[in-house]
Amino acid sequence: MPEVTDLSTHPVLLKTALPGPLAQAEIARQKPHMSPSLIHCYPLMVKRAAGCMVEDIDGNVLLDVQAGVATCSTGHCHPAVAEAVSRQMHTLVHICGTDFFYPGYGELCERLDRLAPPNPGGWQTFLTNSGTEAVEAAIKLSRYHTGRSQLIAFRGGFHGRSLGSLSLTASKPKYRKGFGPLTPGTHHVDFGDWESIEKVLFHTTVPANEVAAIVVEPIQGEGGYIIPQASFLQNLRRICDENGIMLVFDEVQSGMGRTGKMFALEHFGVTPDIILAAKGIASGMPLGAMIARKEIMTWPGGSHGSTCGGNPVCIAAALATLDLIEGGMMQNAAVVGADFKQMLSDGLTGNPGVHEVRGVGLMIGVEFTAPQIAHDVANLCYERGLLVLECGTKAIRMSPPLMITREQCIVASSIFTQAVRDVVNKQ
Ligand code: PLP
Repeated sequence: MPEVTDLSTHPVLLKTALPGPLAQAEIARQKPHMSPSLIHCYPLMVKRAAGCMVEDIDGNVLLDVQAGVATCSTGHCHPAVAEAVSRQMHTLVHICGTDFFYPGYGELCERLDRLAPPNPGGWQTFLTNSGTEAVEAAIKLSRYHTGRSQLIAFRGGFHGRSLGSLSLTASKPKYRKGFGPLTPGTHHVDFGDWESIEKVLFHTTVPANEVAAIVVEPIQGEGGYIIPQASFLQNLRRICDENGIMLVFDEVQSGMGRTGKMFALEHFGVTPDIILAAKGIASGMPLGAMIARKEIMTWPGGSHGSTCGGNPVCIAAALATLDLIEGGMMQNAAVVGADFKQMLSDGLTGNPGVHEVRGVGLMIGVEFTAPQIAHDVANLCYERGLLVLECGTKAIRMSPPLMITREQCIVASSIFTQAVRDVVNKQ
């Protein structure tokens, strides 16, 4: 079989059963040297990727509708991002943004200030290497600015795995098991249940005037692609305003055009005090951002920093990524995302194993009636050349690159709906 040349436009092609012999051999050789904490949902060893297509080391070509966990926003190896990164590699790789100035750092902060929702006082940004570090920065800034210690987060939420962010994460017990004690003073309520913050928490366990921040994903990602009522986020805003609490929106997964708007918060008309971004911001280069209202950025020089956070190469990737997202990909996410959701809904209507198809833009979840169905469907999709990821307790998420075409969605939807039929029929 000839070498695949233009990978980005190539159809799904299975030369071997998956995993192929080369992948099996390499995984068997390498895995014993790797941390057993890694998940490895599929025995897939990726050689290269372009657009929405991924080629494994056996020459199989798969359609990727998970984008490296919602991260390769502009598609794998977008030429404009690759070019910007490569140019920057020959200009300035590192000098440390905490201690020195370089043009890209402030330029990206200025750009994010413009992209965040209108705020009379403006925004200021701290750049990090990851989403988790953006969450850590938000915890620290909220505590510093308010002089308070307590935090409120939501069941089903995912905010990272460092000890501070893990204290907020409440999506699966395996993330926390064995790592306690976590940060004291972290309280969880059900996602969507703002009433119990006011009626229960504030009257039983935590005085409102000791709470530094309420941290929430405007659309839960890892927890199952769950879209709340606008009134939930609006009430959180009110509770924060009434009690001097910082409202933090973790948009690490939902931000950067994924929902058809730059930030998911725009669907709800609520402006928080702090917005967190990462994942799609730099098309797969490690970068995160904590964007905070200027008036709450009261921490002094030296109180927070990072050696590589916001390094010039990742910033070059981010600026090129934002050009592409603003230059049409966000619009594509809105239009093609709506079509994709409709295709999935049409294909799954009446299937007794499917509970719900939901989503906004290219953040689409399919919830099943049992965890095993989600698991089996994900595996069958992989065997048939489609990469998806599970989320929540019994759901699968689709978070493809924002440049996915309608034709690729037709292929994805057809592989997916057939896999669901086959799994459910076998039950
Ligand atoms: N916050 C949210 C909403 C996430 O989905 C994730 C990762 O999945 C994180 C934070 C952590 O980001 P990272 O893995 O880049 O540290």
